[in-house]
Amino acid sequence: MSAQFHIATGLSKIGMFLRSEGWRQADAASLTPTQAQILVQLAQRGTARITALAEELAITQPTASDAATALIRKGHVERRADPADARASLLHLKPSGRRAAKAMAAWPDALLAAADTLAPDEQAVLLKTLTKMIRSLQVQGAIPVQRMCATCRYFRPDIHQDPATPHHCDFVNAAFGDAQLRLDCGEHEAASESEATAAWRRFTGSDASQTDAPPAATDEAP
Ligand code: SF4
Repeated sequence: MSAQFHIATGLSKIGMFLRSEGWRQADAASLTPTQAQILVQLAQRGTARITALAEELAITQPTASDAATALIRKGHVERRADPADARASLLHLKPSGRRAAKAMAAWPDALLAAADTLAPDEQAVLLKTLTKMIRSLQVQGAIPVQRMCATCRYFRPDIHQDPATPHHCDFVNAAFGDAQLRLDCGEHEAASESEATAAWRRFTGSDASQTDAPPAATDEAP
């Protein structure tokens, strides 16, 4: 069997664990997994429209709307008018929703312990590999745009000489390495298609013209 098959099998084993853990956590809080995911998204974003939540979670708008209605009924979320558009509304977390989201957002100890068994260089390689696979899924339209470095207008990959910190984040003006690549960053701002393509070519080593002068870096990693 091909390596791709074995990789897919390995990822499905991890996905199985995360799904069952997600169900367990949500069930303990008397939520469905979709309701739990909406609470976590709202905790990360502050507020959000139903359409944005549906897109982010790759679910249909009616599914997101039903889950939001249930969360409002349970007292975790409230709907308020969007100050930017009188015809639209935004979902806000209420205190009980914030508490539930906090419990839900914690990664399972077993998963963190498994990641901790990897050496630092293995963690960096895994993170870069995951970034490539997630970006590929996104380009194929299999998942929505993710708030990750690879699609961010602040990301300048491989512009520094130091192999430990070759990338640069213009948002915090700092150099960083593969081990700090973000897959869900609150400061992410989507790059234009041409910017994202150019950054991707550089990141994956398919661009031989790496001539940009690196900006001065601060010590603060993103
Ligand atoms: S750390 Fe955040 S802001 Fe900086 S490049 Fe990555 S996604 Fe963008």
